[in-house]
Amino acid sequence: MQLMRDKGIRDSRVLEAVNTVPRHLFLDSSFLEHAYQNKAFPIGADQTISHPYTVAFQSELLQAQPGDKILEIGTGSGYQCAVLLEMKLQVYTIERQNELFKKTTTLFKKLRYRPRKFVFGDGYLGLPDEAPFDGIIVTCGAPEIPQRLLHQLKVGGRLVIPVGSEAQVMTLVVRESATSFVKTTYGEFKFVPFLGGKE
Ligand code: SAH
Repeated sequence: MQLMRDKGIRDSRVLEAVNTVPRHLFLDSSFLEHAYQNKAFPIGADQTISHPYTVAFQSELLQAQPGDKILEIGTGSGYQCAVLLEMKLQVYTIERQNELFKKTTTLFKKLRYRPRKFVFGDGYLGLPDEAPFDGIIVTCGAPEIPQRLLHQLKVGGRLVIPVGSEAQVMTLVVRESATSFVKTTYGEFKFVPFLGGKE
C-alpha cells in the first residue's frame, strides 16, 4: 500500500481493491513467497501476471465509478479482473489462450469472483454485442491501437492500453464525441504481446 502511494497511486478505491485481492492465490504455488513483491510472475502458457503497481496504474487511469461497464482484454491469471470486481465494476473479460481460460475459470469459481462475462476469444474483436463500455483495459502490449475497440467505447469512455512492440507506452484514449478521440501517453511498461486469434 505504502509503495503504491509512494509511486503516485492516489485513488482510494484502487488502493483498497489492490489491498483486498489475495494476489498469492493467482500465482503458481512455486512463486508464493514472491506474491507481494512488486514483480511480474509466470502464470502458465508463457504468460505473466502484471505487477501490482501496473494493475493499480491502469485501474486508476480508467477513472471508473461503481457499476460502470468495463471490458478487459487479456484475463490471464484473473488478478486484474479481481481488482476491478473489488472496485464494484461490471467486468467483461476476454482471454485468447484456452489453457489459461480454463484455469482461471476454475479459480474465479473457487474465489467467488464473478465477472459479467468471461469469454474465450480474440480480444482484437472486443465484444460488439455488449458494447458500448464505460472503459476498456488492455493488459497485453498492442503494436497499435485497435480501431474496433475505440468504437466500442461510450462517449466519455476511456481506453487504457499499453502501445508498442518491444516496450510499451501506457496510453489513455478518451472518446470525446462520436468522432473525436483524445490521446494522452504515460510512462513505459513491459507487457506480453497482444496477439491475434485464439489457441
Ligand atoms: N490481466 C492479466 C495479465 C496477463 S498477461 C493478469 O492480471 O494476470 C496478458 C494476457 O493477455 C495473457 O494471458 C495473453 O494470453 C492475453 N492475450 C494476448 N492477446 C490477446 C487477445 N488477442 N485476446 C485476449 N487475450 C489476449
